Amino acid sequence: MLAFCYKCWNEITSSPTICRKCGCSIDISSHDYEKQLLDLMPNSSAAKRAEICLVLGQREKRSANPQLISIALNDEEAIVRVAALRALGAIGDPSGIEEIAKVALDLKSPDHVVAKQILHNLKPQASTH
Ligand SMILES: [Zn+2]
Repeated sequence: MLAFCYKCWNEITSSPTICRKCGCSIDISSHDYEKQLLDLMPNSSAAKRAEICLVLGQREKRSANPQLISIALNDEEAIVRVAALRALGAIGDPSGIEEIAKVALDLKSPDHVVAKQILHNLKPQASTH
């Protein structure tokens, strides 16, 4: 699993751990980790915001869904919106899938083709976990 220090964005290979770069303690199984990642969003570059979405998607935690939906709809950078859509697809929560479907059906949205692909790749029955 891909994971990063929420302070300095150093890649983390085990958890819980102490970041070798900045010394903060990280526990990616903690409930705070999603929030710590989401708190980084406003001050991060587009590439980093996309990476945060990727990590959140891999964690498959529904708690991040409302923020991911808002990112998918509102972020100014297409790569970040698409990363958020993919994360919602990976999480597979019905509320996330509904939002992806809305984007897919909105032909005026620049992301509708990608959203359609993501819907297509989702398993027929959305996993619930
Ligand atoms: Zn660090």
